[in-house]
Amino acid sequence: MIKVTQPFLPPLEEYQKYLEQIWEEKWITNGGRFHQELEHKMSQYLGVEHLSLFSNGTLALMVALQVLKIEGEVITTPYSFVATSHSLWWNGITPVFVDVNPVDCNLNPDLIEAAITDKTTAIMPVHVYGNPCDTEKIDAIAKKYNLKVIYDAAHAFNVKQDNKTILNSGDLSILSFHATKVFNTVEGGAIISPDAETKKMIDYLKNFGFENETTVVAPGINSKMNELQSAYGLLQLKFIDNNISKRKSLTELYKSRLEKIDGVELINSNDNITYNYSYMPVFIKESYKKSRNDLYDYLKSKDILSRRYFYPLITEFPVYNDLPTASKRNLPIANMKAEEVLCLPLYEELTEKQVNLICDLIRDFNS
Ligand SMILES: *Cc1c(COP(=O)(O)O)cnc(C)c1O
Repeated sequence: MIKVTQPFLPPLEEYQKYLEQIWEEKWITNGGRFHQELEHKMSQYLGVEHLSLFSNGTLALMVALQVLKIEGEVITTPYSFVATSHSLWWNGITPVFVDVNPVDCNLNPDLIEAAITDKTTAIMPVHVYGNPCDTEKIDAIAKKYNLKVIYDAAHAFNVKQDNKTILNSGDLSILSFHATKVFNTVEGGAIISPDAETKKMIDYLKNFGFENETTVVAPGINSKMNELQSAYGLLQLKFIDNNISKRKSLTELYKSRLEKIDGVELINSNDNITYNYSYMPVFIKESYKKSRNDLYDYLKSKDILSRRYFYPLITEFPVYNDLPTASKRNLPIANMKAEEVLCLPLYEELTEKQVNLICDLIRDFNS
């Protein structure tokens, strides 16, 4: 059985050493030494100044909206994981869906202005599959209309543009370290903020709003990362470069094989972007002789699990479906992409032989 993804787990002996230290000191959460060390080392690694660790990416999104006091309407994309919109819903905010562009499935900046109303307070784009949004255009629109921008960068761990991290774009960026992500702490996440003042407030909010033992500055939540996961994260940092380079070579093999197959479309890469190779999406076009769903079933029958990621679109789910901006007519490209997409297996321990097998099957099924 080849799964669509498989988490990387650091060597058990090395993790054991951390656990022994934690057992010795009996400090297991609440901003302990490993939490501090991971915030510090990860900031350095990513090239950001202010980073707050979280227990997961969804709570990081929710706290990001809280710290900026976002309300009313937020412009976002339907082509994402549901957590993007759910974070808005949990904050009592109405998501306003804007279509994506056909090149990389990211929010189309040229359609944002038309969706702005007097209730709009922010834009929440997603760097889908780790491909950077047009941050320059989005940030310029936000400035013009005095809107905040929160990037859902759950897929964009260490992605760079012209050798600079994209995680400093907009007002805040959030990361996810869920088991299925390229960098995992089992569950986990982070917010990258522009200044120490914002980070301080975020750190209060993730700990019930406590500023100190007796002062609660705001109605916060509990979304702290614990010491066991922080220590695990420190080990992951040691292996991440190696893991990304393995993914890179597998992605290159996939691309060289798949670009020769009629009806299989790939997302082009740009030379000025440093990718993290978190996903291997392909788009099954009309000219492929079978449908996307048939290919999905066929691979499954061969014990290969691919995923239709993102299908169904967020706008198909009940809470969002009734919103006027969720209509299929408003979102033709996102709807098309959701019908075409298939994410193929990609993880560190996948072998070239397995990639070749998957490509052979995709090639042979096209007849
Ligand atoms: C994974 C993911 C999230 C949620 O992160 P969790 O850590 O699983 O809570 C949010 N947005 C996107 C785009 C994601 O892929």
